[in-house]
Amino acid sequence: MDGTTGLEEADSGQGSAMTKWVYGFGGGQAEGGAEMKALLGGKGANLAEMSALGLPVPPGFTITTEVCTFFNEKGGSYPEGLDAEVAAALAAVETETGASFGDPDNPLLVSVRSGARASMPGMMDTVLNLGLNDKTVEGLAKQSGDARFAYDSYRRFIQMFGDVVMGVDHHVFEEILELHKEDRSVTLDTELSAEDWQAVIKDYKAKIIEEAGESFPQEPMKQVWASISAVFRSWSNVRAATYRRLHNIPDDWGTAVNVQAMVFGNMGEDCATGVAFTRDPSTGANLFYGEYLVNAQGEDVVAGIRTPQHLTLAGKQANHSKLPAMEEVMPEVFGQLDEVRQKLEQHYRDMQDIEFTVQRGTLYMLQTRNGKRTASAALKIACDMVAEGLITEAEAVARIDPASLDQLLHPTLDPAAQRRTIARGLPASPGAASGRIVFSADAAEQQAGSGETVILCRVETSPEDIHGMHAAKGILTTRGGMTSHAAVVARGMGRPCVAGAGELRIDYKTGTMRVRDVVLNEGDLVTLDGATGEVMAGEVPTIEPELSGDFAKIMGWADEVRRLGVRANADTPEDCRIALQFGAEGVGLCRTEHMFFDANRILAVREMILAESPQGRRKALDRILPMQRQDFAEIFEIMQGQPVTIRLLDPPLHEFLPHEEAEMAEVAAAAGASVDHMRQRVIKLSEVNPMLGHRGCRLGITYPEIYEMQARAIFEAAAHAMMECAAAVVPEIMVPLIAIEKELDLLKALIDRTAEEVMKAEGVTIPYIVGTMIELPRAALTADRIARAAEFFSFGTNDLTQTAYGLSRDDAGNFLPAYEERGIIETDPFISIDRDGVGELVRIGVERGRATRPEIKLGICGEHGGDPASVTFCHKVGLDYVSCSPYRVPIARLAAAQAALAEQDSTLTTGAAGTA
Ligand code: PEP
Ligand code: MG
Repeated sequence: MDGTTGLEEADSGQGSAMTKWVYGFGGGQAEGGAEMKALLGGKGANLAEMSALGLPVPPGFTITTEVCTFFNEKGGSYPEGLDAEVAAALAAVETETGASFGDPDNPLLVSVRSGARASMPGMMDTVLNLGLNDKTVEGLAKQSGDARFAYDSYRRFIQMFGDVVMGVDHHVFEEILELHKEDRSVTLDTELSAEDWQAVIKDYKAKIIEEAGESFPQEPMKQVWASISAVFRSWSNVRAATYRRLHNIPDDWGTAVNVQAMVFGNMGEDCATGVAFTRDPSTGANLFYGEYLVNAQGEDVVAGIRTPQHLTLAGKQANHSKLPAMEEVMPEVFGQLDEVRQKLEQHYRDMQDIEFTVQRGTLYMLQTRNGKRTASAALKIACDMVAEGLITEAEAVARIDPASLDQLLHPTLDPAAQRRTIARGLPASPGAASGRIVFSADAAEQQAGSGETVILCRVETSPEDIHGMHAAKGILTTRGGMTSHAAVVARGMGRPCVAGAGELRIDYKTGTMRVRDVVLNEGDLVTLDGATGEVMAGEVPTIEPELSGDFAKIMGWADEVRRLGVRANADTPEDCRIALQFGAEGVGLCRTEHMFFDANRILAVREMILAESPQGRRKALDRILPMQRQDFAEIFEIMQGQPVTIRLLDPPLHEFLPHEEAEMAEVAAAAGASVDHMRQRVIKLSEVNPMLGHRGCRLGITYPEIYEMQARAIFEAAAHAMMECAAAVVPEIMVPLIAIEKELDLLKALIDRTAEEVMKAEGVTIPYIVGTMIELPRAALTADRIARAAEFFSFGTNDLTQTAYGLSRDDAGNFLPAYEERGIIETDPFISIDRDGVGELVRIGVERGRATRPEIKLGICGEHGGDPASVTFCHKVGLDYVSCSPYRVPIARLAAAQAALAEQDSTLTTGAAGTA
């Protein structure tokens, strides 16, 4: 959504004689067109466009969204001059159809339908068959030669009007209808005769007087105005308002109202109604795809009472249907429809979703719009349309919604499978997984080791659980938000994750997880959908992702136009391999903490923490050094000269210490310390608020040996890679959580000193740079000073969001959803960057950093680096690259391309802005 209302003209012109409120269409002409969606709504704009194209559209007119706004603002009144415009437009419809409104011999019947700028399926009201009354119904019966049809149409109208306009619940009408059917001993509506329908109508009318206190209006103009008002009012009903909130549709857009001559698909066996897509919306194949019903109205297709039949023979065969295809039953009309299909695609240059009706062998088009499609269909259609010469490569790139690529990068639940949803949490990491419940990381590792597929279920996770998270197929937590440890790590690993499913209660002691009366035990099967946040009992089959040729083609085109670099947040050789496979151009963040948790190292790490003196610490660190060196060497080798940003240790030390008594005893024994000493150390190191505590560079300042060891490991690994594999290696050493320039001065000196020592010892020159994360407001504000020492900045927008808002990353999930619901915030700022606050800090950091050091390299490595809207922001603010989890690299590449394209051509609508 672009946020503009398109109502500026209306504001200045409300009530003035200059404003045009009604736009007519029909007979191969139209006053409006597809570009007028803001004013005419999607349906109205496209009806006008189709009419102007010469397609068979029943004539009608559209009352603009500005009238809706006026109506809502002025307590249900209409602008001056509207009635005259409506009367004139209606007269034009009469001329075009040759029928007259209210004429007992040749009555014009119309529909009144809503049509907003963005599609809001089924949220607002519709009234059909207006113009029918006790007299015109007889005219319709005569004209159609089918009294049964005429009275059925009349009762449908009374029913809809009674419900939508007069507020009589539709159940009331259904009950009456059921009584009549019982009376006649029939089960189907179609078995009722004209006389039966007349009796039903009589009862309907009596019921309306009883319930609404007034009678059903016979005067057609009264029917029309009452229906128009009801549709405008339905913009504000609870259902529509909720839909708008969920889909970010502004309340002030308003709906248009379309009044259109009725055509009937239920006048006999030479009539039909149907819906179709100009290409297959699930595979994208260039095949006409749709369904129809003979002798039916549109609502019958959707209602699912009768089984719709396939449009084409191919569709019928592919679906093993026995019912005849339209291609067989009405070959001539089908031929016309197929021509319309081609015309629409040529004109709109996109796959269309259409609705049509056949009345007595004549085809009428009732709607067209860009069709919704799966991600793989979107790729195929875009590539095919480039090959067909319909669109350019740039348009193809612009058209794909980057976020939808997620569907293709992870296994997903088989849409045909049944789901038994027991709880919901946050959709923290996409993909789907089924497996047996385990409640600890060790159990996950153990059972996965013996071939079991497991889902790790925790209240929350901590760095100690990494091995279990890795071993599990999916991760579920009952506490924590979108940037909680579980969420971040799961996204990085590409594991599906549902976080903060608060309805679930996990009891580690009894090994159970319960929600209401459902109790699941360790070992029970559970399924997670990380894309929706659903938790399901039992196993639901999944389907594997497939990266087709079209995917690669679109990515190639995207890479040609984007300016932003795209790197990956990758901690392990495995992450790096996946990142390269997805097209990453380097590592933007290698978090080194997980390396400390490795089962072989944790003892040495704990000894280091327990040591009383720098010497003691060094001794322990000496044992970790070769292992760290090996980690980095492998990463340099895999990345083959691509830049690698390695961040020095960030989390507080107490996270590495054990908390269970037995574990403490084991570690104490190994470290030669007493359990008591160990306990004291844990107490001493624990903090009230570790997120704001002794972490990041503060550790490096107080325990310089740790950073020195890490720097040495990096340089030795680089020297090794340069000598052994002739790979060009440029390590970028990154210091976390800098707030004060002096912190960086001190640590840079330590890193430079270490570099010199290694280079001297190894006899090589290693090109390297030292930079910092900007993840605290003070760092952003003093970026000019920090840039004196920093050769690059990487914006850590996870912490920057946390500190700018004063909002704990791990606890925000408890109340942010309520903030979103109440409209206090539009989106979770941990998911999509808050441009006004956090974004402003980034902008200031960029500006001030560049003022000191124009060539400074600028990137982002917070979770926002993989969010399309945030990537657009990063492009605009002038960053050099974004870095995100390996699985989001293709999304970032596409979003970066769209940001560049939008800059070149402001008329291009991009997928990131929300198409279809
Ligand atoms: C950040 O704060 O944005 C960041 C990338 O670091 P981490 O998530 O490891 O704190
Ligand atoms: Mg951080």
